[in-house]
This record gives sequence, structure tokens and C-alpha cells, in this order.
Amino acid sequence: MTSDHIFTQAVHAGEGEPPPEGRPVSTPIYPAATYTYADMQTLSDVLGGERDGYVYARHGSPTVAALEKAVATLEGAEDAVALASGMAALHLALTQAGAAPGAPVVAASDLYGATHTLLARLQPTLRAVDVSDLDATRTAIEEARPRVVLLEVMSNPLLKIANLPAVAEAAHGVGATVVVDSTFTTPFLIRPLQHGADVVVHSATKYLGGHGDAMGGVIATNAEHAKALRELLKVYGGNLGPFEAWTILRGVKTLPLRMREHCANALKVAQWLDTHPCISRVWYPGLPDHPQHDLAQRLFREGCFGGVIAFELQDASQAEVYRFMESLKLVQTGPSLGDVTSLILYPAIASHRAMPREERYRLGITDGVMRLSVGIEDVADIVADLGQALGHP
Ligand code: PLP
Repeated sequence: MTSDHIFTQAVHAGEGEPPPEGRPVSTPIYPAATYTYADMQTLSDVLGGERDGYVYARHGSPTVAALEKAVATLEGAEDAVALASGMAALHLALTQAGAAPGAPVVAASDLYGATHTLLARLQPTLRAVDVSDLDATRTAIEEARPRVVLLEVMSNPLLKIANLPAVAEAAHGVGATVVVDSTFTTPFLIRPLQHGADVVVHSATKYLGGHGDAMGGVIATNAEHAKALRELLKVYGGNLGPFEAWTILRGVKTLPLRMREHCANALKVAQWLDTHPCISRVWYPGLPDHPQHDLAQRLFREGCFGGVIAFELQDASQAEVYRFMESLKLVQTGPSLGDVTSLILYPAIASHRAMPREERYRLGITDGVMRLSVGIEDVADIVADLGQALGHP
């Protein structure tokens, strides 16, 4: 409809143009919240789910769908659902899998700190287990007969590796859904669905996006689970926005290139730290003395062990750790990982802040432990920066 009134012109002029003839090679950002159709029957069919199409962005939108397709492809999943953060993805995945008040859940004891808190809030009957101890994990699963088994392929921050195929077999034996947080590993290292996981969760804020400029979460799973997740998402909200979806989609394109560099750099930094006189311990699955080095070799892409290292500054107090971290010039201090930039975190005040000190120490996360997410800068510069901050190049 045309109008001579500037108020109407201002609102409607330029809208409703047909899509361009040429197909854009990269997915555009579609910020539209609402979609319209020429006839009411089509609108009704789309609203009712009888026909594919977009109608309201909380129910799905094209840029987000492109990211979902990309992650599903990389994970070898039938489908994927994107959300506004990794925690939103974990919340939805756990809720849908049955982590309700009183429901039996077996979870890894060393999960990301906020995931611990989320589980506490969901109030299941929780049994925490060291998932790198297969016998203990099997016993916990057989005794608790959980609805959900939750683990991180590579734990945070001490990088324990779960024997996913064996844990999944035990979990499926009692009918549990296996939810795996693969944020640290990414589909470059492992595709958990091919090793028995039912649901894979990512904080896309980390390696998938890779540049520290977008928050997001993705759940990759089979078509039936994904359909149920989408139905929940329609009422829970927490959807990923199109701008973030576009940013993360762009990041995904270089995921293999970045991961290759992260892994190569991390191995060199871990080897260097391992022989450094100021460092009492290094946790990195690529080092032969890591307790699950062989398992990591079997599960992960050949020669790749991820980009995250944990290490302990010998006999260090919190003040000494602060001094070391404040002396770093290239490596940035910050509570994230998986960026192109090297990032260092102090778990005692960040990811494990809410955990009582004794429990933190019981897990091995002493006041001297730091987590380093090795970036894709030249490794010589990363090592030089760590060396000057330690006072021993
Ligand atoms: N899972 C792991 C392993 C994480 O490290 C994080 C965040 O650090 C999350 C989930 C939560 O992701 P987000 O910060 O995107 O909510």
C-alpha cells in the first residue's frame, strides 16, 4: 500500500522488497523478530508447526538456523539448537533430559563452577563422581540408576579425561541420558555423539566463536531430542540473537585452523612449563605423564590434546599468584578460554570461587593453580611472556 503521509511512509517505505537474485555466499544477519505471509492459512500452518517457515524469532530465525546447521554438521548430529549462552544451553539440556527436583542424576565432580551451581539449583538427587575413575563411575551409575549422566569430556580446570564410551555404555544400561559438555574439546578433537553421548553441549562463547566477541551456547543431538528442546525453548526463551549467531558462525569457519594452532602451541607451552623450576605441576593430556594420556590419544584427533593447560606455581600464596598474573604482558587475565588471545584464569577467584576451600583443595585446585588457555599467537612470545612473569626465562 502506498501513502502520501510521511508517518506511514517512514514506517513502510523500502520494506517488503523481494530477496536479491544472487544468493549471498555467506549467511546474512536476519534481525527480523516477526515474519508475515501472503495468506492466513500459511501463517496458521507455520504457527501450528504443520509447515516449515519462520514466524517469530523465539521459534527460530534464519541466521541462528545456519549456525545450528553448521554445528550439527561438525558434531555429526541430526540437529542442533542454539541459545544465548553455554549456561542457557546446559540448563535446557539438563531440564529436558530430566534433571528435576528429586530425580537421580550422576555428574562429574569437577565440572565448570556455574554448572555445579546450576545442578544445585535444579535440586536433583545428585551423586558426584570422579569420571576419570571408571570403576567408581560405573558403581555410581548402577547404584543411583540416574535419569541423567552429566560430564565434561575434558574437565575444568584439571583436564581429566572421561572414558566416554565406557561411561555411556553404563549409563545406557540403566536408561540414562548422557549429556556431555564438549566446550574444551570441540568437534575438532572429538565428536561425543559417536562415542555414546546422547546430547552434546557447547559454550559457543569459547572455541566455536573463538574471538571473545559473542556469547552463545549450542546443543547438538538427535532430531527427536532437538524437537523437544525447541518446544521448551519457545516458552523458556533464552534464544541466541542473530548478531551473535552470525559472529559465531563466522568463527566456526576457522575452528579447525584455530584448534590446530591452539593444540600445537599448548603442547609446546605445557612441555616448557613442565621443566620450569618455579612450576610444581602441569596438567595437560598431551604430556605422557598425564594419567589419561593414552585414553586422550585414543579418543581425540591424532596428536591433538586441546588448548587448555593447568599448572601450579610452587608453594604459591594467592598474593604470589596475583603478582605473577599482574606481571604478564601478552597473556591476558580473564575468566574465559578458547579465544585467539592467550587467557589466564585463577580458578580460586573465578570458576571455583563458590566452592569451599577444603573441597577445592580436595579436587587438587590449590591456591597456586592457574588455568591457561593458550592462544594462537606465536608460541615463542607466549613462552617469553610466561618466563618474564616467572622471573626465570
Ligand atoms: N561449560 C564450560 C566447560 C565452560 O567453561 C563454561 C564457561 O566458562 C560454560 C559451560 C558456560 O558457558 P557460558 O559462559 O557461555 O554461559
